[in-house]
Amino acid sequence: MGLGAARRTVLVTGAAGFLGSHLVDRLLAEGNEVIGLDNLVTGTLENLADAMKSPRFHFELGDVRETIGVYAEQIFNFACPASPVHYQADPYFTLTTSVTGIQRVIEAARGRKCIIVQASTSEVYGDPLVHPQPESYWGHVNPIGERACYDEGKRCAETLLFDARRRWGVDARVVRIFNTYGPRMALDDGRVVSNFVVQALEKTPLTIYGDGSQTRSFCFASDLVDGIVSMTRLASVDGPVNLGNPNEFTIKQLAELVSELLGGEVVYKPLPSDDPKQRKPDITRARQLLGFEPKVSLREGLDALIRDIRGRLDQRPRRAAAP
Ligand code: UDP
Repeated sequence: MGLGAARRTVLVTGAAGFLGSHLVDRLLAEGNEVIGLDNLVTGTLENLADAMKSPRFHFELGDVRETIGVYAEQIFNFACPASPVHYQADPYFTLTTSVTGIQRVIEAARGRKCIIVQASTSEVYGDPLVHPQPESYWGHVNPIGERACYDEGKRCAETLLFDARRRWGVDARVVRIFNTYGPRMALDDGRVVSNFVVQALEKTPLTIYGDGSQTRSFCFASDLVDGIVSMTRLASVDGPVNLGNPNEFTIKQLAELVSELLGGEVVYKPLPSDDPKQRKPDITRARQLLGFEPKVSLREGLDALIRDIRGRLDQRPRRAAAP
């Protein structure tokens, strides 16, 4: 922690998840008292192994949909399954985690000085008709499709937050997170970067859905966490802020990069419904407001992810990647 930086009591919901746990580590490194809430549906305590060593970390097993009995000066709401495989496994759970969860967070923050940072998502833009996506774009979401439980849940959470801000002056700040990858992603997460790495290391073919021409822009976890924590350093932030890496790749290019590093054949599978054809964040606003600039290249980030996944696969009985 830098001299003069204030120590705060911070609540992270979804603390045992991939991003939640990296955020917890950063907040602890900055000297804060951190309470981590998680129901361990997709998160694991292994992700919090480092945090657990700190006397300033307190873990609470619980669901964000229950009343929050914690008095925190900042709440980072990261509770929600985020990979399509996981969030579609129980759509009711996913949608209520976003919507009821944010109600509970607002109730905990309302009427006092408390910053909420909400983990929203590029999924609010759906299968976008505008490219790259600026925050001003309202999106193109199928409200009754297989991704809707996540997309509409996150959209509704934004709605509730901005209403809470207008009506009650709740200090709500929203980050729209684009595709992010890095160490600690669950081996069965199913998202493309970790899936390809698991598949290549297990010597099974890399599964490209569709023809692989769809695009995504991949941000390394530590870069994303830089942006998230900087959201609390401003006196106020009005309106959502995109966070992600604007370097865009086709899924085919990603598969080629992974097989260049690890070997591996590719196999083509059907494209899931409502799969966005292209995605790339316009991060002009994050650059201007936060000085946000992703630093880790896909190649460097992949090396770190490969080391992490290789280590975990070596320690475990073989587990298959999601189909
Ligand atoms: N994808 C793929 N193979 C996989 C997993 C995903 O081709 O093993 C594709 C998926 O159809 C999508 C893109 O990769 O077009 C990104 O998928 P992911 O699940 O990582 O995140 P999304 O951006 O779709 O939420």
